[in-house]
Amino acid sequence: MVTIMKTVKTQAGNEIKLLGNNPHKDILVIGVFHGDEPQGNFLINEYLKSNPETNLLFINCLNPDGMARGTRTNLSGVDINRNFPTANWSNQSNGEFYGGKTPASESETQFIIEIINEYNPQIILTFHAPYKVVNYDGPAEKIAEKISKIINYPTEKNIGYPTPGSFGTYCGIERNIPTITLELDENCCMKDLIPPVFKILNLLETI
Ligand SMILES: [Zn+2]
Repeated sequence: MVTIMKTVKTQAGNEIKLLGNNPHKDILVIGVFHGDEPQGNFLINEYLKSNPETNLLFINCLNPDGMARGTRTNLSGVDINRNFPTANWSNQSNGEFYGGKTPASESETQFIIEIINEYNPQIILTFHAPYKVVNYDGPAEKIAEKISKIINYPTEKNIGYPTPGSFGTYCGIERNIPTITLELDENCCMKDLIPPVFKILNLLETI
């Protein structure tokens, strides 16, 4: 069994978990920034069933409150991927892109920031949907190309629309950590995502 290395409770009382083993590599994999994109939770849980001795670090579900309700945002209506304390953070967006009252106002965001400060990851992979691209921030071009070859989605340095307060900006652009945002195909049965995603995780295990 993989170890629960750190937890935090959400507003609705759900638990967010950092999973891994000791010793571990400095590679962090995160699922479900957005509650309506459950693919990462499914794929990480499946992966850990067959790879409990992993040397990667995982957050299978960063937004359990949103996932329970099927919403992009957390229980406070904040888009966690717009809540990071970046130079371009803004609370101007409305609806499901709301950046929060203040930067890092949300416990989900604070949990990630704590983990980054404590574990100093050298590569970060996050799962999203539905765009079928390997988006990246920071010096991640080489690893993005390897991932692109495995899953057959194009790489893209910029997602094409402004993302103030995003995780990619916080880690990739402002901290120079290679950060991959893997946008999965939401029309694909989640089981069919297992082979390419497991290959990608196996690649990260061997880096
Ligand atoms: Zn997303």
